[in-house]
Amino acid sequence: MNLKKLCLSAILSLTLWGFPTLEATSTEFVRVTPELLEECAEPVAIEVAEEVVIEYEEHLVYTTETVNAREYPTIDSAVIETVPQYTEILRTSEEINGWDCVIVNEQELFIKHEYLTNEPPVKSLGVCGLTAYCACSYCCGKNDGITASGTRATQGRTVACNWLPFGTKVIINGETYIVEDTGNPDVLGNNFDIYFDSHEEAKIFGRQSAEVYIECGDLAN
Ligand SMILES: [Zn+2]
Repeated sequence: MNLKKLCLSAILSLTLWGFPTLEATSTEFVRVTPELLEECAEPVAIEVAEEVVIEYEEHLVYTTETVNAREYPTIDSAVIETVPQYTEILRTSEEINGWDCVIVNEQELFIKHEYLTNEPPVKSLGVCGLTAYCACSYCCGKNDGITASGTRATQGRTVACNWLPFGTKVIINGETYIVEDTGNPDVLGNNFDIYFDSHEEAKIFGRQSAEVYIECGDLAN
């Protein structure tokens, strides 16, 4: 509250207690004109009431899927950023009407509350080597398409890995795969071997590397 408003609220309080119109003479006071009253009427009313400050501790949250971060907390407002799944971001407000205020690329934006979680949903395994294979005899030494865990190898789901239990869900380049197969340790090493339906697609994939994530629930297994 600045001095001008402080004086004004003091004058208003005195007026409320039945004093006749006060004429401020000190230089610390301001003359209360109808214009000034109108200008200050609302701020004074707020400041006379007890100020209520809602404290909110900023904390890190995670996107549960790829989501839009908007300029304002409404679906009609502009999409400023698209935030990938499992991104760690800072939440700066409580949920308001289903929206959370977050910081994305140093901007204050809004994401729907339902797409944010407090618990890290995944944990990074670090950058891992990636190779690709298909069900052909060149890739597998057999061609029945049945994985070491007994499932039918399926593109977009099956990944081979020699050091995680079957059934473990891993996230590679934003896609969720399930460890269903193993590979020749001399060839596969610590890499992940991603299954493709055709040998051609596997060849095109070649050798890559990417940060691989594991769903947290699976870490306990
Ligand atoms: Zn093949």
